[in-house]
Amino acid sequence: AKQDGKGSHRFFEPAMDAEAQARRAMEVDLHDALRNGELELHFQPLFGLSQNRVTAFEALLRWNHPVRGMVSPLQFIPLAEETGLIIPIGEWVIHEACRVAASWPDHIRIAVNVSPVQFRSSTLNSIVLQGLARSGLDPQRLELEITESLFIDNVEATLASLHSLRTLGVRVALDDFGTGYSSLSYLRSFPFDKLKIDRSFIVDLLAHEGATAIIRAITTLADALGMETTAEGVENSDQLDILRAQGCGQIQGYFFSKPIPAGDVAQLLQKLDQD
Ligand code: C2E
Ligand code: CA
Ligand code: CA
Ligand code: CA
Repeated sequence: AKQDGKGSHRFFEPAMDAEAQARRAMEVDLHDALRNGELELHFQPLFGLSQNRVTAFEALLRWNHPVRGMVSPLQFIPLAEETGLIIPIGEWVIHEACRVAASWPDHIRIAVNVSPVQFRSSTLNSIVLQGLARSGLDPQRLELEITESLFIDNVEATLASLHSLRTLGVRVALDDFGTGYSSLSYLRSFPFDKLKIDRSFIVDLLAHEGATAIIRAITTLADALGMETTAEGVENSDQLDILRAQGCGQIQGYFFSKPIPAGDVAQLLQKLDQD
């Protein structure tokens, strides 16, 4: 049925106001979230295929809002980036992730997402250094996940920051690999420790013949450059089998586990490392 033009306009504007108001309300709440202890890290395992055990966990931020319930990071991280709140939130994430990981077995790394806004801020190095010092975590056990959107604005500054992070001894992974428009050129500029193959390629694995060839190309390239590979979003054993056959190093996804609270990590390790 065709809508009456005037009618839909009448509804359009108040709806926009409501949306703006809702955003504003969430922004106010996000200010308090950190202080009120509403932010929490969950941890999702990365399973190493050659080691046949969990080699790392990725820290994933959760906002447990008293009224809204669990708010997705896809909703509040963009807001945190626009308002600058990502700086204190990101600092908390790094410190908390290091603190939790320091209690794990030494062979298990912790991967932490770093927002481009956070990456460009002058304080990232000292925050990482402080997180390591306070927790006593070996720098080699901390892996920072960045996305290639960082390279769009200022390649030189990004490379300089990456190299200075490297001097701290931490690892750097390129997240969502393959979704940007010129990923390959960055690989020759900086020696990432790991490529995380975006979930969109994994979803395609069973539907498109070409997807397997792409995975093969990525793992071959990564091998040649001395980089590890992790496939994200692996949900079933068919995908796992293909990824194994194509030489992918680590598997992350619901097939092994959803992200879990810190308190459940020991039990999950026992379960996954025994199978
Ligand atoms: P990401 O870094 O690509 O993280 C992977 C996302 O895929 C996570 O969503 C994870 O829960 C989800 N996932 C894992 N396995 C599967 C699977 O098998 N199937 C499906 N459908 N999804 C799976 P989540 O936790 O909602 O996080 C979304 C995004 O929010 C992350 O994407 C990351 O970009 C951002 N994010 C999360 N935590 C942080 C953080 O502490 N700091 C920053 N800056 N960004 C974060
Ligand atoms: Ca990530
Ligand atoms: Ca990712
Ligand atoms: Ca992704």
